[in-house]
Amino acid sequence: MRQIDHFIVGDSPAPTRKHQVWNPSTGEIQAEVALGDAALLEKAMATARKVQPEWAATNPQRRARVMFRFKELVEANKQALAELLSSEHGKVIEDAHGDIQRGLEVIEFACGIPHALKGEYTQGAGPGIDVYSMRQPLGIGAGITPFNFPAMIPMWMFGMAIAAGNAFILKPSERDPSVPVRLAELFVEAGAPEGLLQVVHGDKEMVDAILDHPDIAAISFVGSSDIAQYIYARGTANAKRVQAFGGAKNHGIVMPDADLDQVVNDLAGAAFGSAGERCMALPVVVPVGEDTANKLREKLIPAINALRIGVSNDPDAHYGPVVTPEHKARVEQWITTAEEEGGEIVIDGRGFSLQGHEQGFFIGPTLIDRVTPQMKSYQEEIFGPVLQVVRARDFEDALRLPSEHQYGNGVAIFTRNGHAAREFASRVNVGMVGINVPIPVPVAYHSFGGWKRSGFGDIDQYGMEGLRFWTKTKKVTQRWPDGGGDGSNAFVIPTMG
Ligand code: NAD
Repeated sequence: MRQIDHFIVGDSPAPTRKHQVWNPSTGEIQAEVALGDAALLEKAMATARKVQPEWAATNPQRRARVMFRFKELVEANKQALAELLSSEHGKVIEDAHGDIQRGLEVIEFACGIPHALKGEYTQGAGPGIDVYSMRQPLGIGAGITPFNFPAMIPMWMFGMAIAAGNAFILKPSERDPSVPVRLAELFVEAGAPEGLLQVVHGDKEMVDAILDHPDIAAISFVGSSDIAQYIYARGTANAKRVQAFGGAKNHGIVMPDADLDQVVNDLAGAAFGSAGERCMALPVVVPVGEDTANKLREKLIPAINALRIGVSNDPDAHYGPVVTPEHKARVEQWITTAEEEGGEIVIDGRGFSLQGHEQGFFIGPTLIDRVTPQMKSYQEEIFGPVLQVVRARDFEDALRLPSEHQYGNGVAIFTRNGHAAREFASRVNVGMVGINVPIPVPVAYHSFGGWKRSGFGDIDQYGMEGLRFWTKTKKVTQRWPDGGGDGSNAFVIPTMG
């Protein structure tokens, strides 16, 4: 059985605990990953403490060059990385390429670190007084990442943190840990000092060790909301800087004037792509008015029935299996709950079996109509290939749904009416908005972050917000007297002896 080890400097002690890594397409266990503890973390921290000051003192152009070389190496290895990623996660190869690409775009942004790090300067803030600010790294940062984007989310975090001068400890999901390790290997190949980026595997035990370690200055977390809140509470109680991004339930509002063919096309990808295991998926559609709802439903049914489910390396598949057997059971249970709550199961994906791969964790696409805000299955995240339809009476009714939902990650509106779109974008109580864009993940030079239970903490991920998160500003007020006058304030420019 393939063994996946930590990526730290020096040998890791033999693990006392391991976690099984599935191949979701075949339903077989393909590897075991070591689960680390506080002692293992301390070993990684000892190296991080050693290498970080020198890295912080390396000028930003040199740091940027390492990021450039890393970007080139990831590109050169993209297909192999995508295959490895798909085999552990279950998403199809094209989605795996997207996962890597969206992470690489943050690395590209990080290549501009010399420019991004420039501080502010005011000459003559008072008589002979200038004020300037500089951004300095925090020291050692940590990232704790979810299973659903094993390449993108680690790169979002360590790209910005390391370019800014920090050392980084990455604790990836134990469900698909191989790609993060491969990325760390490539980072060393790119010229980064060994120990600058280390990967420690583990579950709650390792996460708690990170939360309590006195030398970790900041933690970036992405995962489910209850755990995000826990990370935020415990991390900040330990006086760390913490950003913790949580779950989501993104709505797509369909106005009566929307181009329904385009909406159906967008929904097929945004609701079912990657088997719905995206925090920016669109699992709730809100048609405005009964007429819009009926027309949309009529067009959605054949489009959903045409979706092809396949193993992760099937080039014709729209989506693959979900990540684990437990997750498959949980998603199917949510469909049952929705049915019991009075939702109309229009297309039922429970019990789906892929011929030749009967042991894989596949779920058929599911469409549930007449869902209401009182239903538990609406209030909670399902994280599977399930699209719920909540019919809204009018624009105000539609606006209220995502605004009052406990999650506030993303939302989209489909319309040809600029005024409605503008009004919606300014009033909706959600962090990221798409206008005729189903998955509005901001590009790398903007920033990513949801509201309400989708994001704990104040600072967003990547872009200039990411830079702010991984640095602290120092403010300097300076005065250089000329040494003249009666000599009491004499100032002598030192000379080299
Ligand atoms: P998860 O919360 O189960 O795991 C995330 C991380 O937390 C993993 O590294 C895991 O090892 C660790 N962890 C798990 N249980 C823990 C515990 N009890 N104590 C401490 N740490 C623990 O999330 P997941 O299932 O891997 O990922 C899916 C979730 O992530 C979904 O809710 C999804 O919406 C969310 N997500 C959010 C965003 C975003 O940007 N808001 C992006 C991607 C995924």
